[in-house]
Amino acid sequence: MPGQNVRTVPVEVLVIGSGGAGLRAAIAAHDAGAQVTVLGRTLQGKAHTVMAEGGINAALGDLDPEDSWIVHAADTLKEGEFLSHPEIAERLARDAPERLFELERWGAVFDRTPDGRIMQRPFGAHTYRRTCHVGDRTGLELVQTLLAQVRKRGIDIQEEIVITSLLTSGSGSGKRAIGATAVDLKTGEFYCYLARAVVLASGGYARVYKITSSPGENFGHGPAMAYRAGAELMDMEMVQFHPTGMTWPETAMGILVTEAVRGEGGVLKNSKGERFMTRYDAKRMELSARDIVARAIYTEVKEGRGTPRGAVYLDISHKPAPFIRKKLAKMVKMMQDFQGVDITKEPMEIAPTAHYAMGGIRVEPDTAMTSLSGLFATGEVASGVHGANRLGGNSLTDLVVFGNIAGKAAAEYAKAAPAAAPDRAEIDAEYSRITTSFGRKDGISPAVVQEEVRELMWQHAAIERSAAGLEEGLAKLQALAKRAMAVSGDLRFNPGWLDYLDAGNALVVCEAILRSALMRQESRGAHMRTDFPEMRKDWKRNIICVNRGRMLLKTRPLPEIGPEVRQWMQSRNMSLQ
Ligand SMILES: Cc1cc2nc3c(=O)[nH]c(=O)nc-3n(C[C@H](O)[C@H](O)[C@H](O)COP(=O)(O)OP(=O)(O)OC[C@H]3O[C@@H](n4cnc5c(N)ncnc54)[C@H](O)[C@@H]3O)c2cc1C
Repeated sequence: MPGQNVRTVPVEVLVIGSGGAGLRAAIAAHDAGAQVTVLGRTLQGKAHTVMAEGGINAALGDLDPEDSWIVHAADTLKEGEFLSHPEIAERLARDAPERLFELERWGAVFDRTPDGRIMQRPFGAHTYRRTCHVGDRTGLELVQTLLAQVRKRGIDIQEEIVITSLLTSGSGSGKRAIGATAVDLKTGEFYCYLARAVVLASGGYARVYKITSSPGENFGHGPAMAYRAGAELMDMEMVQFHPTGMTWPETAMGILVTEAVRGEGGVLKNSKGERFMTRYDAKRMELSARDIVARAIYTEVKEGRGTPRGAVYLDISHKPAPFIRKKLAKMVKMMQDFQGVDITKEPMEIAPTAHYAMGGIRVEPDTAMTSLSGLFATGEVASGVHGANRLGGNSLTDLVVFGNIAGKAAAEYAKAAPAAAPDRAEIDAEYSRITTSFGRKDGISPAVVQEEVRELMWQHAAIERSAAGLEEGLAKLQALAKRAMAVSGDLRFNPGWLDYLDAGNALVVCEAILRSALMRQESRGAHMRTDFPEMRKDWKRNIICVNRGRMLLKTRPLPEIGPEVRQWMQSRNMSLQ
């Protein structure tokens, strides 16, 4: 609607998202001297990060003195099936202890050993115990700690504001991010935030699947907006299916049963009472990598050894009840509340659930800048850390390590960036785009589009994939994308309109997942192709999606692993492929 009243707000560094990554980036940008504004769709302290349960990794060596950043990096690279950017994985492991001690200094209270060291629990596929935790409420502690630091510094943080698109200026190699358009959900007002640097920390996209542990908003706004603005997406096909999600009641389907249950000794059994992990990874058993455990459960159920609900059992009831209540307080309450199951006495019924996006926006290792100048990305919205399979506990580490790097780099960039003038026509076009569905007579409900997208993704692009299935999924998606959507009401707290935004962004993200999954003709980590069941050396490459009027895909080679990690792996005769 040209002529619409737009409120323009100039800022130096605009941080989009108030989860762990956004908060850490805001602190770093502020401490580097920038004026920062943080915008979040959710209320403060309610971002997805608060749901994180099991812990945060840092090679402190408190319990296993042999641990070091080198082993942490090697585990991350190996279990990510060598698709992580080596420099990024190495930086994650190197910086983790410093960031963890910083959280402690800022007031986070981690669980302790009786003699006062930080307690570290074993997590799947880690060589040593390195997952620091606060019971099974680690994410909440992390967010509260960071939020207190944001408030202490007087950083401007606003809630219930949704970003609709990124703004850019220039073209070709001179193109850069200059801000974003937004709607204040409380008032319905339309804003233009003009920024010298933008940090995108808007979380992942696992919600595009029907069964997921991800909350309502994780439809991939970040990757979709970055793609539309011209930034490259990477490895979008790599979606982690966590082995243990709730299977009933329907309202609780997919909710995460934390890996900490297995970390604290929980065992998996099929309907015949067999500890079936002996068939899939006899050495590491329940603490194998997530992709292996998820596929094992999927196979048990597919081959008829699941429960009538299409699940398997996860049992920790052999441990003393007070231990379970202390270590897994949230799980005890959750299973009691939803199912009336007492996990200190009975097993849980669990099945895989879409959990985490390893894919996302491509970033540079030392700055977290995307391929679009002035746009930085950090946290689950970015790619490069976890490759084809994320190690449990590595996401929270990612948030604080790369939040810090992105915030600092954005502040530096902002100091040198010239002020940009907004293009009024671009802003008007955006307002028309986001309001075009109001009052349409010929459209379908965005909630229906969302539901159909999530169903087709579960059917065609979940744990097992094939060319035929992916092509069918893509055809269904393209048909859906042609359907107009209709919304009533206005921009104030309108769930229908938010569904519309979510559905539009999900369509972009799902196209990228389906096309990338089709292109990757091999099986690697979370990406399992029944028609290409082997991992192929020539596919040790990242897949890039870029907007050229249509979605264009290309591959990108990975650099070599650094000498310290390479030597450590070679000394243990580990394959580097
Ligand atoms: C149940 C559960 C348990 C987990 N446990 C662990 C664990 O123990 N250890 C671990 O390492 N990882 C764990 N994870 C993963 C980890 O929690 C997430 O990957 C991580 O918290 C993501 O943080 P983030 O800051 O990138 O994004 P988020 O915390 O998702 O924050 C995103 C922010 O962006 C905002 N946003 C999104 N779109 C827009 C928009 N268009 N406009 C404005 N704002 C927007 C949101 O409102 C929010 O403020 C778990 C995940 C789940 C679901």
